[in-house]
Amino acid sequence: MPTAALADHFARRLLAWFDEHGRHDLPWQRAATPYRVWISEIMLQQTQVAVVVPYFERFMARFPDVASLAAAELDEVLHLWSGLGYYARARHLHRAARIVVADHHGRVPERIEALEALPGIGRSTAGAILSLALGQPHPILDGNCKRVLARCFAVSGWPGSSAVLARLWALAEALTPVARVGAFNQAMMDLGATLCTRAKPACHACPLAAGCRALALAAVGAYPAPKPRKQAPRRAVQLLLIRDPRARLLLQQRPPAGIWGGLWTPPEIGLEETAEAWCRARLDVSVAHLEKRPPRRHTFSHFQLEMRPLQVRLATQPTRVADDAATTWVDPAAPGDLGLPAPISRLLAELEADTDIARQE
Ligand code: SF4
Repeated sequence: MPTAALADHFARRLLAWFDEHGRHDLPWQRAATPYRVWISEIMLQQTQVAVVVPYFERFMARFPDVASLAAAELDEVLHLWSGLGYYARARHLHRAARIVVADHHGRVPERIEALEALPGIGRSTAGAILSLALGQPHPILDGNCKRVLARCFAVSGWPGSSAVLARLWALAEALTPVARVGAFNQAMMDLGATLCTRAKPACHACPLAAGCRALALAAVGAYPAPKPRKQAPRRAVQLLLIRDPRARLLLQQRPPAGIWGGLWTPPEIGLEETAEAWCRARLDVSVAHLEKRPPRRHTFSHFQLEMRPLQVRLATQPTRVADDAATTWVDPAAPGDLGLPAPISRLLAELEADTDIARQE
């Protein structure tokens, strides 16, 4: 474990670098309230800063405070999140905003235990919110910090395992200063994002190079150790792109839990089922035309989904949709304010492009 003198030296070097090279004008750093930092921290999980900035600006314009977020329908929140991925983040955010309004008088809690109790906020996110917005002395440990610490202190093992995680947290606690804690935490994240990157770390420009053990061992690439590999399971489904005689497309709202929870997608059936049977059972109409489209894959964190799209033209207009899920008919060129997963938006856009070409021919 680093001594107090080493921790002091570490913080000084890092802060001097941050003052000159760190990021100081990100949108959430201006008027950094707990609410704004919270939204940014959730968006930044698994997502690059450059991608997050426009999403953050749009989100803030629509939901400037916790009350407006809590009062919104989940569908609208998901719509603003469309394209950012990892939609559980948006669902948790929305649920947490409602808890803040109901249980905390609409103020984001300023005690770390209360903040960590909210959905979607772990120890690192809570520490980031309170240190960046309020200067409270809490350490953080996001993916960038884990990489920097694992390399600086040559911590072997995969950071997802509890023993390695505990060691990294202990290092973060020992190194995080009380003064300028927000700047220190931001500096750790910036260093990991800009210099101590996963693929090609710029050690020659790093303020921590003199004390970095991985560099001294000429083994920077060995830290942090990767996750032990396990083949991601695959699942294949048929995606029914059902058009009524007016060329409108049928969409279903997915259940709140599970992949793409709460978002809208075309109906999905197993490989052993048929589109004809589904349409007869749910819509009470027969199919006029069927056409297979090229399959596509989407990788989730824990499995791979193979989608086999099937264009289905109905013979007549159905008068009802007998399904447990909410359903709607949309113009695929303008699906409106519905929250659609990015792969489904892309699929619909491609279909429309093909239809336009067919119309011109
Ligand atoms: S010297 Fe290289 S490996 Fe070590 S912390 Fe700096 S950038 Fe990362």
